[in-house]
Amino acid sequence: MSYGMIATWRMACDGIAAATQALAEGGSSQKAIVDAIKMVEDYPFYKSVGYGGLPNEVGMVELDAAFMNGDNFDIGAVAGSRSVKNPIVVAEKLSHERFNSFLVGDGVAKYAIKEGFELQNMLTERAKKTWQNRLEEIRHSNLSPYDGHDTVGMVALDQTGSMSCGTSSSGLFMKKEGRVGDSPLSGSGFYVDSEIGGATATGLGEDLMKGCLSYETVRLMGTGMHPQAAVQQATMDFAKRLERRKGKCGAFSLVAMNNQGEWGVATNVEFSFAVATDQLAPTIYLAYPAEDGGNPQIEVASQEWLDAYQARITAPIK
Ligand code: ASP
Repeated sequence: MSYGMIATWRMACDGIAAATQALAEGGSSQKAIVDAIKMVEDYPFYKSVGYGGLPNEVGMVELDAAFMNGDNFDIGAVAGSRSVKNPIVVAEKLSHERFNSFLVGDGVAKYAIKEGFELQNMLTERAKKTWQNRLEEIRHSNLSPYDGHDTVGMVALDQTGSMSCGTSSSGLFMKKEGRVGDSPLSGSGFYVDSEIGGATATGLGEDLMKGCLSYETVRLMGTGMHPQAAVQQATMDFAKRLERRKGKCGAFSLVAMNNQGEWGVATNVEFSFAVATDQLAPTIYLAYPAEDGGNPQIEVASQEWLDAYQARITAPIK
C-alpha cells in the first residue's frame, strides 16, 4: 500500500522525514501528523509555529492548531492558546471528545492542566526582540504590521489507507489579541476524508476562510479530479472571484494529497512545501505562481536555497 505526507513550508521537512519513516514501518497517519507537527512546534527558530512563534500586538504568543482524523471525521482544535507546549497534541486529544472539541484562550490551558499536558512560556527572547524591532519599524516606516506569518499544515496517508491532517500556527504577527485565523477552522485551514484525500492551507487567514478552500479541494478530489487539478481549481477560482468582487486577495497556498498518495499544490505567491511518499524521499520544493493562472512552476529547492534559509532563520537578532 502507498503511504505519504505533504506539508506546507520548508519547516515541515524534518518532521515529515521522521514521520514517513514511521509510516514505512506501519505507523498510523494520526501519529504521523502529531509527531511531525510536534517537531516543528518544538524547534525555536521556526518563528511562526509553537515555541518561538511570533507574538500578537501586545507581545503575547497566541497559538492556533487543529487535528482531523479522515476515517471518522473527528476534529479537535485550539485557538488563542497561550501556554500549552504542544498545541497539536492537545488538538488531537480534543478530537476524541464528543463535546467541547474546540477550545479557546484560558479554556485550552485549563483543559491541558486537567489532562496532564505540559505548559511552557512560549515567548522566546528571540521572538520578543523581533516583536520589539517590529514596533520600531512600524513607527518609522509603512511596513505592514502583519508581514511575517506561516502555518505548518500537513496531510498524511498510512499503509492501511487511513488519512489525517493537522495545522499549527502563531497566526499573523502583530495580530490583535484574540484574533483567530483559518488554521484551526475545519474546511478552511484543513480537511481530510480517508475515502478521498486531504488538503491544508497557509496564507492570509481572513481571506482563506472566505472560500473554505481545503474543503473545496477535497470535494473536487471526490469528483475524481487529480489532487493537482483539484487544488489548483479550488484555489485559483476563488482567488479570482475574491479579486473581482472585493478588489484584492491575500496570499493563498494549499497542498493536497489523495488516498493513493498522489499530490498537488496551488499558490499565488512564492511558496515552499515538503513531500515524502513510498515513491519519493523527503523533498523540499519551491512553487512559483504561473503568470497565466495555470499550475505553479515547481522545482526542487537547491542546496544554496536551503543553506540561505537556515542561515536566515538562525541569524542573531539585534
Ligand atoms: N493562515 C494563517 C493565519 O491567518 C497564517 C499563515 O498561514 O501564514 O493565521
